[in-house]
Amino acid sequence: MNDLYPELEDYIYNYCTEFQTPDEHTAGKTLLYLNTGSESMRPMMLEKGWISDDPVILAMIADGFPALRSKVVKRIWAKHRHELKLNLCPACSKITRTPLAQQCRFCFHDWH
Ligand SMILES: [Zn+2]
Repeated sequence: MNDLYPELEDYIYNYCTEFQTPDEHTAGKTLLYLNTGSESMRPMMLEKGWISDDPVILAMIADGFPALRSKVVKRIWAKHRHELKLNLCPACSKITRTPLAQQCRFCFHDWH
C-alpha cells in the first residue's frame, strides 16, 4: 500500500473516526468549537461537553489543528492501516474524496 499523502490524511481524519481514541475525538471537537464559538459561549459549551478544559486535551490541541490532525492520522496509520476501509480508485489506487465517491480526483476515472 502507498504511504500517507495529504488527500489520504484528510480521508482518514474525516472518515476513519472509529479508530480515534476518546481523547483524540474530544480534542478535535474542542478545537472545532473553540474556533467557531465566541468567548461568551464557552461556559455553555463546557457544560454541554462540546469542549473540554482537561489539561490533557488542551495539551493535545496546543499546536493547532494541523498538528493534532497529523498526529492522529499517523497513529491510526501505524496501528490500523490494514483495517481502514478506504475507498480507493480502481484504476490508480489513490484515495477518493468520500467513502461513496465514484470518481477519482487524480486520474478522473469514473466508475458510476
Ligand atoms: Zn484514479
